[in-house]
Amino acid sequence: MLLAKLNHEENIILQKAVSLATQLGVNIYLVGGTFRDVLLNQTGFDLDLVVEGNALNFAKILNLDLLGVIKIHENFLSAKISFTNLSLDVHTARKEVYQYYGALPKIEQGSIIDDLYRRDFTVNAIALDLKNNTIIDPFGGQKDLNNRLLRTLHKDSFKEDPTRIIRAARYASRLEFDLESITKSKLLEVVSYIDFVSASRLKNEYIKIINEDKHYKILQLLNEWGVLPYFLPGIYGESLNITNEKHINLKGSNNERISVWLVNLMVLYWQGAINIKDIHKVRFNFTNKELSCIEWLVENYYFLKHLQKNDFKASLLELHQLLYNTPRETDFFLLWLLRGKSNFYFQDIKNARQKIKLPLNGRDLLKLGIKPGPVMGKIITDLKRQVLVGKINSKDDAVTWLKRMMNDYVNQLDS
Ligand code: ATP
Ligand code: MG
Repeated sequence: MLLAKLNHEENIILQKAVSLATQLGVNIYLVGGTFRDVLLNQTGFDLDLVVEGNALNFAKILNLDLLGVIKIHENFLSAKISFTNLSLDVHTARKEVYQYYGALPKIEQGSIIDDLYRRDFTVNAIALDLKNNTIIDPFGGQKDLNNRLLRTLHKDSFKEDPTRIIRAARYASRLEFDLESITKSKLLEVVSYIDFVSASRLKNEYIKIINEDKHYKILQLLNEWGVLPYFLPGIYGESLNITNEKHINLKGSNNERISVWLVNLMVLYWQGAINIKDIHKVRFNFTNKELSCIEWLVENYYFLKHLQKNDFKASLLELHQLLYNTPRETDFFLLWLLRGKSNFYFQDIKNARQKIKLPLNGRDLLKLGIKPGPVMGKIITDLKRQVLVGKINSKDDAVTWLKRMMNDYVNQLDS
């Protein structure tokens, strides 16, 4: 009855998990977001299971039957089994010990109650005992669910793990819940503890926000709570009052393997920063590729502003220079920026991206008496430009051009 909302495939997986648990003599529970959403009458979620015992063995044996793709996380005593349109997390019931605020906790095997106690909010700390079909709700989660409240399990919860502050904004927006009043005052007290969270955890939280439909609402809430200076420095409140329409939606382009979150971060700073350079202060431990997008945005700020104007259209050469050796994310930022402009820009950007075919190669240049070195490099760069602006269309054009230019190059070499 409780699980009527789950689809056929999900029910079969749960049946198989329960019969394996019976065989192995371990207890098994449906937990976390999955059971919360079941109780909220929502559909379409991934399954989250907790086993009182070794979840790694359990998942491995279960998958002999399910035949999904299994990934084991030894450190977290958990496993993920993925299918085409569904995934199943199997966790070992665990106890967590925080060695310092903001750190990842030390993990030990524990009971289902221990496991529920380590969770962020009471509404996420309800379990369904799948063998006995009974609800385990030690912290009053169902009551909070009915009153649509987010309540932490203990007073140091946000201090212990400040990412819960960001999670609170995510749930409050998605589920349309309020923060219970003590929870809210505790949250507001420790906003600055976000400084203790590692860069990679912060970045993960940002990516989770961006993947939500109501990401703007989440950012607005974080702004209201005074979290943004710690999380996205430089973004100021008023800029977040803009509508979703202005935000980029790249959901359909995932197969391009671009980082949607990164394009969105660029857009966010474009729209919202007092000073675009503040994007450098974001503490996400950027990779080199990510950094080059950010530097690109800052360096080309004025040109991009110009480009955005209706009376200005960049030449192919300018686009080429703008996009030379930059990651694909910069194209998507540009497409977003120019979305109101005529769409032949799209073709131009594609053209600017293509490797320019040179009518003369290195060997041809050698034959013409040009030795490898800086001059040859300069000739190739200039040749590219001539091709891009359409002044050279054939090998003959190129040779004529080069002969005419030769004196200049030789003089440059002398000086
Ligand atoms: P979603 O619907 O976004 O998947 P979820 O509630 O399933 O939300 P997950 O991030 O998938 O959230 O985490 C699964 C569960 O693990 C949560 O329901 C919560 O109980 C617990 N959890 C996750 N992160 C934390 C955290 N930082 N502190 C405490 N509990 C957490
Ligand atoms: Mg989840």
